[in-house]
Parts: sequence; structure tokens; C-alpha cells
Amino acid sequence: MTQETGGFVAFNLNPNILAAVIATGYEEPSAIQQQSIPIIMAGHDMIGQAQTGTGKTAAFALPILHRIDPAKREPQALILAPTRELALQVATAFETYAKQMPGVTVVAVYGGAPMGPQLKAIRNGAQIVVATPGRLCDHLRRDEKVLATVNHLVLDEADEMLKLGFMDDLEVIFKALPATRQTVLFSATLPQSIRAIAERHLRDPQHVKIQTKTQTVTAIEQAHLLVHADQKTSAVLSLLEVEDFDALIMFVRTKQATLDLASALEAKGYKAAALNGDIAQNQRERVIDSLKDGRLDIVVATDVAARGLDVPRITHVFNVDMPYDPESYVHRIGRTGRAGREGRALLLVTPRERRMLQVIERVTGQKVAEVRLPDAQAVLDARIKKLTNSLSPLVADAESTHGDLLDRLTADIGCTPRALAAALLRKATNAQALTLAAIEKERPLVPNNAPRGDRPERSGDRPERSDRERRAPMPLGEGRARCRTALGARDGIAAKNLLGAILNEGGLAREAIGRIQVRDSFSLVELPEDGLEKLLTKLKDTRVAGKQLKLRRYRED
Ligand code: ADP
Ligand code: MG
Repeated sequence: MTQETGGFVAFNLNPNILAAVIATGYEEPSAIQQQSIPIIMAGHDMIGQAQTGTGKTAAFALPILHRIDPAKREPQALILAPTRELALQVATAFETYAKQMPGVTVVAVYGGAPMGPQLKAIRNGAQIVVATPGRLCDHLRRDEKVLATVNHLVLDEADEMLKLGFMDDLEVIFKALPATRQTVLFSATLPQSIRAIAERHLRDPQHVKIQTKTQTVTAIEQAHLLVHADQKTSAVLSLLEVEDFDALIMFVRTKQATLDLASALEAKGYKAAALNGDIAQNQRERVIDSLKDGRLDIVVATDVAARGLDVPRITHVFNVDMPYDPESYVHRIGRTGRAGREGRALLLVTPRERRMLQVIERVTGQKVAEVRLPDAQAVLDARIKKLTNSLSPLVADAESTHGDLLDRLTADIGCTPRALAAALLRKATNAQALTLAAIEKERPLVPNNAPRGDRPERSGDRPERSDRERRAPMPLGEGRARCRTALGARDGIAAKNLLGAILNEGGLAREAIGRIQVRDSFSLVELPEDGLEKLLTKLKDTRVAGKQLKLRRYRED
């Protein structure tokens, strides 16, 4: 056994699990893993508090795999996750760690996929069930005994589950599980609602809290740049010239901005794509796969669309638009520096946003250094370095393959080799500016014009609708259709119940759903026009608060 795996060896995990962990290339357990694994292995209930990217999945998956009995073909562990994406991620992780445990199977249970095969996989004896709460409740309604053998329960991202309105579903699930089970709860934050759940449903839980904010952030070099709102695109283009990145994610606030910035980048020859809530799920997965394997280098995303995104190649995060709060800043920059790798995060700050920068610095306990735009000299140096790097490997044998041709061409044209080489360079660089004067002329931004005084900003683009804004009166969004259900406040319905049900069953991203209005005897929901009929069919059997949703297109006259 090598020395690096020592940390995992000490847990005394089942050797097949340890072998699979070593095969993944993990060297040391992360802090949350170090503390949680022994507690969960010993069968205790636990509350774990840690930020995104700290390795929570393995923190519960490894000890749970250790505790199940592979010979028993029945559900033994249930993991609840807030969204379909996260459920799939957790299920995949379990499969990886269980690779060398013959007979162990994992099933993912989520809305938007047919129920039959999911139920069949559970009944066929999958020991690990990873589910979103809404869909699991539907299974329970068909077969209330389906979870009767589960003796380990994990609530992953518990705070997110409550935000999505899954409280009632969780209560239904708790009731369907044996009271003697082990319960483990992970959450980034512990608001009162989570503490209340823990009090009612956990037995004498041990607490593990990882102060990751500083830890997550220290692996990431942070900087900010002051810029006017209407100069952001040119600022981004200048920064890209000098940043040495592998893959990069840029965050903006609006769907339109993802499209605009991605096409500006593409126009400059970068392999870039937009990622937003209007983009269909399978297309989004393709974008992420392309970023993983290098067909794309830059993804321009909204917060919601990038949730859960885990691509180790990401070396840089550009916060082109300011996040709404410091938590989401920490969350965003956590997309880089994954699992101890180094990363770099840049934040563009407009004059009015300087206060938010201070809040971020206070919350993360770190100063976010100011950088300036690269000057013409820095851009020139970077361009020449790139050119040098691309040409130097060719020099070794080009003379043997193309030397004779060079002689012939110089003779035919009647020029010196230097003149010909210069002509070839001009062609190879697409006449890119490669002198100081030329670069100065092409650059729309002077590096030292960073805004100091406040001035009005353009407010052309409207932020992508957040929960808060969803309640504000607003005309029907472009590309959306209004749908109606006969369920309303008098049926005990709140907007979050509708949102939760539609998200979970429809497999939609949160921001794909527009405004939700709950009236006394009916409710209206804005849904994407594109694919609406299919979505409504998918939601045909959905129930909310025990009643059929029966969502229909609503025509106003
Ligand atoms: P969280 O759920 O806390 O956000 P994840 O469990 O998704 O974090 O883990 C984040 C990333 O870190 C994943 O890519 C995972 O494979 C990797 N990872 C987890 N534990 C380790 C470890 N001990 N060493 C190296 N990488 C790890
Ligand atoms: Mg996680």
C-alpha cells in the first residue's frame, strides 16, 4: 500500500471499497470525509455541515457501502438529493465506489423518467436508492412498503431540499422508513427548519462542522477588476489574452448575457458556449461533456444552470456579473480549485457594486486584490508567447520536410528567406496585431481608465428571474405559456409546492419556470412554450398536496 493512500486505509473500510477509492486516484480523505466516515461507520446519526466541493458524497457513500450487506437483495440505504442532476451525480459516485463489490446495485429515482423501471429496479434488489423526494413519494403512494427495509437514510443538501419545497414530502418519507434506521444529514447551512428536522428525526446525532469557506477559498487566487458595465465584454477579452487558462467558466446574470458573451467569445476564436435554463437538459449535458473533454474551453453560465457543475479542468472562474450574495460567490468560485487543485477567480466590479465586494471580503475573511487590465505590452508579450509555444515544436523537423520548398519559393519569388518567413507569419497569425502600436490601436479600452467615480449604468438586461422576482407583476415572458391548475390556496397549495412538483416531475431547471400565481381556487404557472405539450403529458399524473395537479394550457381572451 502506498503512503498516500494511508489516510483511507486507516478507516478500515471493506477492502473492496478501499480498492475502488484508490482506483479513483484520491490520495487523502478531505476534512469532512476524515471526520464523518468513522462516525457513520460506527452507526451513529450525524449532522454534517460543509460547503460545496468538500467531498460530501464520499463522506457518506463509503461508510454506507461498508455497512450494507451485498448478499441481501433489498433496498438498504436511501439517499435523498434536491434535484435530478444531483441525484444522478450521487448515484454515479456510488457506482464508482462500489465497482469492486459484486452484487451491489444502485438505482436513481427522479421525476421526468418513467416510474415503472425505477420501481422494478428497487424491487429487483438494488441496495442503494438515490432519489429526489417528490418522485420517491409517488412510488410510496403506489407501494408504501417499498422502503420498509431501508436502514440508512442520507439527506444530501438538506437546505436546498427545503428551499425547493420538499418539506412535506420528507415527512412522508420519514414515516415510511423503519424508526430504527441510521439518519445522516448534510447541509451547507443549518437554518432553524433544518434543526427542527434533526430534532424530530435524528437520534442523538453527532455534529461535524467544516469551516470550509476559508479553506475552499484559499486554494483559489482571487482578484477583482473595476470596470463600467458597458465595457465588460472588452474587459473579458483583454483578460483572456493574458490569463493562462485550461477551461474557464464565466458567470452572468441573464440568459441573454450568456448568449451575447458566448457569441462575442466565439467571434474571437474561443471555443465557447452558453449554458442557461432555456437550454434543454440533454443539450446542457452535452455542453458540460464538451467542456470536460476539451471540445469547449469556455462556458458562459447563469448560476442556476451551472449548479452542481463539476469539471476538474476548470482553472478559472470569471464573475462577469456580480453574484447576488456572498454565498453564491463562494459557490461560484468553488467551480474551480476542485478537490485541492489551484484555481483563479476574477470578479468584475462596476462602480455601484463596490459595496458588495466589501461584503464578499468580509464574509470570506479575505481581501480580493485589485488588478488592472493588461496594458498593450502585456498583451503583446502574451501573444508572442503563445506564438512561440505553437511554433517551437515545429522547428525541429520542418526544415527537413519543407526546407527544399522554401529554397524553391524564395528563388521563384525572388525574395529573402526572412521576407518569406515574415509573409508566412502574417498569414499564420491571421494578421493579428503583433506590435505595440497595432495593439494600442485595436484596443478599445485603456487599462488605466478603471472607473473611480459613479456614473449611471445601462440597465438594458433584466436579471434572470429569481424566486423573489417571480412574485413581481410581469408580462408573460417571451417563449412562455401560461398554464392553469384548479388547485389553489384553499387546497393548501403554496407556490413552492407547485414549483417543487413541476421541477421534480418535469425535469425542468428552476429558471425555466416563470411566474407562479396562487389564487384561492386556482393557480397560474408560466412554463416554456417549447415542448409544452410533452411537459404537460409528463405532468399528467403529478399530485400536489395529495391532489391531482391537472395542469392545462390557459388561454386568456
Ligand atoms: P460536495 O458534495 O461536497 O460538493 P463532491 O462529493 O461532489 O463534493 O466532491 C467534489 C469533487 O471532489 C468530486 O469531483 C470528487 O470526485 C472529488 N473528491 C472527493 N473526495 C476526494 C478526495 N479525497 N480526494 C480527491 N478528490 C476528491
Ligand atoms: Mg454534493
